[in-house]
Amino acid sequence: MTTDLDTTSIKSQYRALQQAATLLNNARRICILTGAGVSAESGIPTFRDKQTGLWEQYRAEDLANIDAFERHPEMVWSWYQWRRNLVKDKQPNPAHYALNDLQQWAKSHSKNLELITQNVDDLHEQAGSYATHLHGHLWKNKCSQCDAAYTDPIDYQQSELITCTLCNGNIRPDIVWFGEMLPQDAWQHAENSARNCDVFISIGTSSLVYPAAGLAQLAKNNGAKIIEVNLNPTQNPLIDVVLAGKAGEMTPQLIKLLQSNDD
Ligand code: NAD
Ligand code: ZN
Repeated sequence: MTTDLDTTSIKSQYRALQQAATLLNNARRICILTGAGVSAESGIPTFRDKQTGLWEQYRAEDLANIDAFERHPEMVWSWYQWRRNLVKDKQPNPAHYALNDLQQWAKSHSKNLELITQNVDDLHEQAGSYATHLHGHLWKNKCSQCDAAYTDPIDYQQSELITCTLCNGNIRPDIVWFGEMLPQDAWQHAENSARNCDVFISIGTSSLVYPAAGLAQLAKNNGAKIIEVNLNPTQNPLIDVVLAGKAGEMTPQLIKLLQSNDD
């Protein structure tokens, strides 16, 4: 049974999708920022989700943290090994594929589209996209002391620490933790993309983790329109169009609308 409330929200959702499609049609430069919500439907928990199993008494923020690694390197390393096991067989979901379609659509309409992600998984790449990673890569490692890349294969079942052959420092995931600087090139690229875009889309991010959360404001200050796709919209006043719903449903609907305008 469909209630009046359902009908109203379906109508307003469709209106929002049309507004978003119009903005994208008129844009020359598009910047998209994705967060953990984009990978949630692939079965990778966000940081706002409560952890389960072995690690349920810990908050993710307290582990993905430079101080935590300095104090308890074994614990943080074994949490990441656990996360790697959790993520290793996960596949892109319709949101990742729709974003790849959007990149192709933009290309065929001579629009510039930059995809920036806060995610450390590689699901955008698995779906065929090129993405700038602001927070590093779950599958890469480096030395916590001399910063050298550690490229030997890692056994994800092994939770003991590995040490650097150059300086004996502890090997850590090549991820940007709370309290650390973002990689300069990636950040510079993200800042330029946000500053120069006509439309900025924020998908599946709580917009709480800075400096990435500041990109939408930067875009807005330079006249861009802001679209948000979120299951629980952030209520941020700078947003012009809210697509309230799952990334894996809203993003494919948006690209379908754009493609149907081409026919
Ligand atoms: P977050 O956990 O703070 O917020 C996730 C957001 O996604 C929330 O606003 C939530 O309402 C929304 N959301 C949840 N499911 C959704 C869905 N199906 N469709 C649309 N929206 C949905 O994540 P964040 O903003 O990315 O920031 C936290 C940090 O966590 C980042 O630095 C990131 O590096 C890290 N992180 C990465 C991964 C990953 O790589 N997959 C997973 C967890 C956390
Ligand atoms: Zn080293």
